[in-house]
Amino acid sequence: MSEAEARPSNFIRQIIDKDLAEGKHTSVHTRFPPEPNGYLHIGHAKSICLNFGIAQDYQGQCNLRFDDTNPEKENIEYVESIKKDVNWLGFQWAGEVCYSSDYFDQLYRYAVELIEKGLAYVEELTPEQIREYRGTLTQPGKESPYRDRSVEENLALFEKMRSGGFQEGEACLRAKIDMASSFIVLRDPVLYRVRFAEHHQTGNQWCIYPMYDFTHCISDALEGITHSLCTLEFQDNRRLYDWVLDNITVPCHPRQYEFSRLNLEYTVMSKRKLNQLVSEQLVSGWDDPRMPTISGLRRRGFTPASIREFCKRIGVTKQDNMIEFGSLESCIRDDLNENAPRAMAVLDPVKIVIENYAADTVEMLDVANHPNQPEMGSRQVAFSREVWIEREDFREEANKKYKRLVLGKEVRLRGAYVIKAERIEKDSAGEITTIYCTYDPDTLGKNPADGRKVKGVIHWVSVSQGVPAEFRLYDRLFSVANPAAEEDFTQVLNPDSLIRKHGFVEASLTEAQPEFGYQFERLGYFCVDNRDSSPESLVFNRTVGLRDTWAKIEAA
Ligand code: ATP
Ligand code: MG
Repeated sequence: MSEAEARPSNFIRQIIDKDLAEGKHTSVHTRFPPEPNGYLHIGHAKSICLNFGIAQDYQGQCNLRFDDTNPEKENIEYVESIKKDVNWLGFQWAGEVCYSSDYFDQLYRYAVELIEKGLAYVEELTPEQIREYRGTLTQPGKESPYRDRSVEENLALFEKMRSGGFQEGEACLRAKIDMASSFIVLRDPVLYRVRFAEHHQTGNQWCIYPMYDFTHCISDALEGITHSLCTLEFQDNRRLYDWVLDNITVPCHPRQYEFSRLNLEYTVMSKRKLNQLVSEQLVSGWDDPRMPTISGLRRRGFTPASIREFCKRIGVTKQDNMIEFGSLESCIRDDLNENAPRAMAVLDPVKIVIENYAADTVEMLDVANHPNQPEMGSRQVAFSREVWIEREDFREEANKKYKRLVLGKEVRLRGAYVIKAERIEKDSAGEITTIYCTYDPDTLGKNPADGRKVKGVIHWVSVSQGVPAEFRLYDRLFSVANPAAEEDFTQVLNPDSLIRKHGFVEASLTEAQPEFGYQFERLGYFCVDNRDSSPESLVFNRTVGLRDTWAKIEAA
């Protein structure tokens, strides 16, 4: 496939192709405009891949612009996390990071321009009255008694707002458009409000802050954005976007195009809801591996490539949709199946004692890191008289379908020998404590000489050479597909979304780097937790299982 063919095609790229062909633009300039009021989530990744992806493919530019007009809800921790997440996803913004707050002076002058043109006025109705006067979808709004103030009076009052002469809620600046418009956003929208709040970029320089609809279009125009891409809920706001730019003196008039948001089953995607999960300590933080945040997915073991691949697979349309959680998982599974080295771990250990194996011997076995990628090499795995196996890999009795260890029968230990279970020891509660076995010394890397067949292969870890580890197994954070539709989404959390196990890993894993994925043979894909793990006390996160067991559960 040529590079051009590998590019995704969607209605936005078609618009861009047409604009370039018609000479409307000679280059493409997009932007990703997060509000720094939370951490980025997988929905933002869709927007990031779209905006930065277009810039990459068209040799254009994409700005990272913080849409920072709500100082009370924003802070610098969010700014830093967003920069980090965008970079981690593999993208670099053009030039310096931009902030809407960089333009506060210019925005103020544009507001003055609107006032001078008789297109904006200082409102002194209370916020409740403003709401009342606005009307509804079926009823037109009512004009404010302050609507027809003179330009001079408005200029003086706006200056008074700026210099702290009004308390919050006492006055605001409104555009003078049309109180009867069928688009409620055009019913004299508020452009500026009074807020005595310290801003993370501008400190206490301002006590009036511009509203999103006024700020966004002007910021786009000042940055020379050609295509301003946002989600469908801003469709009506496009009228206001264009009205503002049509009525002030800006260098260019970018065009806004809307696409549908990403919704993912079994999770919530709004920052407000995610923030609530964090602040009510229903999760361990924004980067809890169960969160749909970029930092959570990263901590869980998702790779940037897998998230970009996911965004490519879901595409960009105007249709509202709900994506199955399994499609995100299959992207990381495909990546790790190909690229993750194999290793052995036992999550729920029971001890095997191989009675005919010398007690003081430790044998180093050479085991391939990947079954079909020889270039990934091999590693040394210690074998000894005592090994751990998975409790569920042994049964006292079983039919032929059970291809693991059964009392009196044989099984192969992966990369090592064939063993036979001879007898077991139980504690007073009836729980098996030890399985005594014998091994066939002539089966290392080859089948038994007498031709008998040993079908099952199980994984194991040496008792004396293995290392203890905690394993965190994650499941859906919510027990219903669309928690946002619930009256209280915190009531439908999945109580089993995190299960902790304590077992052992082969010693080579003490050198595992955080976030780097391994396939633990027969168990799934795991990575070292980037927060709670240390070489002395290993913690592994299960990124995803080996197969999509969820689809089967759903079907049943
Ligand atoms: P939230 O509702 O989660 O708070 P937001 O839209 O308020 O999201 P912003 O920080 O304003 O968050 O979003 C930055 C950009 O990311 C916007 O252009 C927005 O349209 C886009 N975006 C946000 N959520 C999604 C999503 N679920 N799918 C696609 N794009 C999204
Ligand atoms: Mg927003």
